[in-house]
Amino acid sequence: MIIDYHMHLRDEHEELAHRASAVEPFVTAARLAGVDEIGFTEHVYYFEQTRRLWTVPYHLERCGHDLDDYVTAVSDAKARGLPVKLGLEVDYEPGREDETIAILEPYAWDFLLGSVHFVDGLAVDGGPPRLIDAVGVEGAWHRYFDVLADAARSGVFDVLSHPDLVKIFGDRVPTFDYGPVADAIAEGGVAVEVSTAGLRKPVGELYPDAAFLRACHDRAAPITTASDAHVPQLVGRDFDLARALLESVGYETVTVFDRRRPSQVAVG
Ligand SMILES: [Zn+2]
Ligand SMILES: [Zn+2]
Repeated sequence: MIIDYHMHLRDEHEELAHRASAVEPFVTAARLAGVDEIGFTEHVYYFEQTRRLWTVPYHLERCGHDLDDYVTAVSDAKARGLPVKLGLEVDYEPGREDETIAILEPYAWDFLLGSVHFVDGLAVDGGPPRLIDAVGVEGAWHRYFDVLADAARSGVFDVLSHPDLVKIFGDRVPTFDYGPVADAIAEGGVAVEVSTAGLRKPVGELYPDAAFLRACHDRAAPITTASDAHVPQLVGRDFDLARALLESVGYETVTVFDRRRPSQVAVG
């Protein structure tokens, strides 16, 4: 089975399209790409219901939309028998775990992605202000992975998205020890997302790094596969490279979720 468990429900111009008719182009694109099941994972910070979680302008400027519209669009498609799952890409806000859980609790999620896009109010993958400029490459890597480890153990998430996002601009700590974060991932019982989105960023690589994925595999952490598509035509993009990475590390199964219950199915 081939799954793409990270995409944003948008129109062909990347504009938010939280309506049932916007789902079908993604399903069609998935079929063409040989993807069996897709999961929609809009950013949590677009929704009015989450406003009280946010402190940085990037989030506060965006959180005006109704979460119910999004959930209804995806849930209706699922109810009609389309191969879609209801997910959300949730920013990890340290110290706000209970509030995050309470806001999301009323909805029938299939899975929740956990993302670290900001650390200490500084952007990991955007900006300015950029984390990497504020504390240097080494500092950014250590802070980022410390926060990611907390996200893994938080109990809020099912999957960690683009798990080594901090490498996005191509700056790296070549000898980084992934052991501690992989321990946290195993302890937290979360899956790790293998994402092709990094290939379309300055770093030009899959997330995560092979050494990181190997550390996760050593600890029997499960995985998902993802494109992080913001337009339908990116669904399943570069999945041949993701599968080659999985094979080289020794993964034979991928995780599928239904109502937050994971199960393992053979890749391919
Ligand atoms: Zn993201
Ligand atoms: Zn995303």
